[in-house]
Amino acid sequence: MTQARCLRHFARSSLLTPADLPRTSKSTFNPPALGDPLTVLKGVGPALAREAGRLGLATLADLLSHFPRRHEDFSSSREIGQLRLGEEATVAATVERVTLQRTRRPNLRVVKATLRDDTGILEAVWFNQDYLADQLAPGDRLLVRGRYEGKGGNFRIISHELLGDSAGLHTTGLVPVYPTTEKISVKRLRGWLDQVRPLFSRLADPLPSGLLLELGLPRRADAMLAMHFPRSAAEYALARRRLVFEELFLMQLALLAYRRHYERERRSVALGPAGELSRRFRETLPFSLTADQEAVAAGIGTDLEGDRPMQRLLQGDVGSGKTVVAVLTLLRAVESGRQGALMAPTEVLAEQHFLNLKRMLAGTGVKVAFLSSRLGAKEREGALAAMESGEADIAVGTHALIQEDVVFAELAVVVVDEQHRFGVQQREDLADKATRDGITPHTLHMTATPIPRTLALTLYGDLEVSTIRQMPPGRKPVRTWHVPEAKRAGAYGFIREQLDAGRQCYVVCPLIEESEKLEARAVEAEAARLREGEFREYRVDVLHGQMPAQQKQEAMRRFADGETQVLVTTTVIEVGVDVPNATVMMVEEADRFGLAQLHQLRGRVGRGEHESFCLLFADPGSEAAVRRLGAMASTADGFALADIDLEIRGEGQLFGLRQSGFPDLKLARLTRDQDALKLARREAGKLLAADPDLARLEDTLLREEIARRFGDTVEWLRRI
Ligand code: ADP
Ligand code: MG
Repeated sequence: MTQARCLRHFARSSLLTPADLPRTSKSTFNPPALGDPLTVLKGVGPALAREAGRLGLATLADLLSHFPRRHEDFSSSREIGQLRLGEEATVAATVERVTLQRTRRPNLRVVKATLRDDTGILEAVWFNQDYLADQLAPGDRLLVRGRYEGKGGNFRIISHELLGDSAGLHTTGLVPVYPTTEKISVKRLRGWLDQVRPLFSRLADPLPSGLLLELGLPRRADAMLAMHFPRSAAEYALARRRLVFEELFLMQLALLAYRRHYERERRSVALGPAGELSRRFRETLPFSLTADQEAVAAGIGTDLEGDRPMQRLLQGDVGSGKTVVAVLTLLRAVESGRQGALMAPTEVLAEQHFLNLKRMLAGTGVKVAFLSSRLGAKEREGALAAMESGEADIAVGTHALIQEDVVFAELAVVVVDEQHRFGVQQREDLADKATRDGITPHTLHMTATPIPRTLALTLYGDLEVSTIRQMPPGRKPVRTWHVPEAKRAGAYGFIREQLDAGRQCYVVCPLIEESEKLEARAVEAEAARLREGEFREYRVDVLHGQMPAQQKQEAMRRFADGETQVLVTTTVIEVGVDVPNATVMMVEEADRFGLAQLHQLRGRVGRGEHESFCLLFADPGSEAAVRRLGAMASTADGFALADIDLEIRGEGQLFGLRQSGFPDLKLARLTRDQDALKLARREAGKLLAADPDLARLEDTLLREEIARRFGDTVEWLRRI
């Protein structure tokens, strides 16, 4: 059979009229439109329709994509005489006699029915379903699924249905099992889907038929039907493959189309090659760059020399040395007589970067300005003036950098640190805000959260990705322990030994997501407790998000200079803080933090010559938390942790994918559908090369579907 005929076969004979199922339904239901409410279904009134709302079902179209969680395989059908002991099977037979029996146990009642076919007789048994005694009558034809327990011909019923009603829907072949509610049973859902069977053929297919043919995938209508009522496991697999591909393909098209649009609509300044300034800066570094750092810097250099705006993601584990690469990138703007900006997500990190850059660039004559929303009026004006006049070569700050009243003389490069919290829409906003006189700066996004490649393709499908895998030489892995409450006292003893040896320690307080204020209070309280208690002989300080900028800087400086020994803090120190003499990271209630966060926190130690330690205090309450702590103790590799995280959590919640703006994947699972993702990526690229605006007639439905699915999250996609 040719592929085309095979597909037609899939469409016509195998799905629409499954020949091997008796279809005796007398339903006169005449399917209305996909958009109709559930109340058009037989037996569905307003109350039931409201209940269905809890399952996310409002229209018939919703029902069609209410996919089963799994199928039960009821395909083995037997005659009574052939039943084997202990076997589960489906039997069609006639009811001879029905009895309701009370047992000696107060809450156990048994309905028994004698069933007969040509080959034998058996006794079907139901527990606590009294109503069946009235419902079943001698002479009824019954289809029962159950387990044959032999002794006395007992057949313990799993599921049953009257023949001639829905005929096999619940007991024959691959039977769908749906997410349900109390009032909407799985049988009810099967019945509804059976009623709307004729509607499947009305589902339009957004994928061009040429593509389907090429990839050997079935039409949408057939795949959707087979998701519910497949005739075989193979048919189900093919149906799922088709729908997973569709989901990923549409997403990749959206991302790639977005990138094309970005590149087409925006212009950057082509910068000159690296020069004297870069060379001098490299000379002042007390180390030479790793091969990975060099390779990444070279790639960025090539981007900067073109007038297509760079949109590059730099990922590298905590401590892998992204800052140097960022500085080299910013210097390219300065060397060409223009400006660069370095933007960080928090005040603390921005301040840290500012101090760092000033120190690193001290001998070069490069002027660095600082801007954050917490500056005093005078400082702020000074910074703004320096940026506008061009006196400042590099500006470091928070999001305040791209607010309305900020004007740069000539901004050519933006580096965004720890950008993993942002999505496509935020990237677009950043580009819009930073664009002046039609010039969009080259942008480097940096993240220390390693992302599995599959996820990067979805989260950052619109970016080029560079990776630093190699750590600077001489790093020792941080030894990590999970400390249960029982061992707390011993752990404090261990920390005191470190402090006595001249080292320093971070104490991270429990995560309080509801309020920064509460978190600040917890920090103050814990610091007070430690000053009186375990660390009474040491200098304890605090750092949290609620402190004024000035105080934060002071606290950071005191700790960096070794004036304080213990810093009680929150996740504000998660990123960027660099104090090589700190060797202990102690996290309270570590089970409440995510893996990525714990890994970031751990990255604050192990930055110097001394062996370092991470103590995770927790008495975990959940299986997932136990696995997270175990993973932390077993590996220091951020990429390995990212993969484990993906497994534990599923991609839906990973690294704030939810906030990133893209709708959740409904069917595809990045952990198991990697090949489909790669295929989708490749095909999306091919299609856009042939039809960049999806303007061809055969791509029209595709274009509309993309706008419908992604238009809400990425404003521009609504316009394609
Ligand atoms: P991150 O990627 O987490 O931002 P940093 O840029 O803060 O990492 O670098 C971590 C530490 O490693 C810094 O103290 C930095 O000076 C140092 N470092 C960076 N590159 C190298 C290198 N090639 N050799 C040695 N040390 C390096
Ligand atoms: Mg960093």
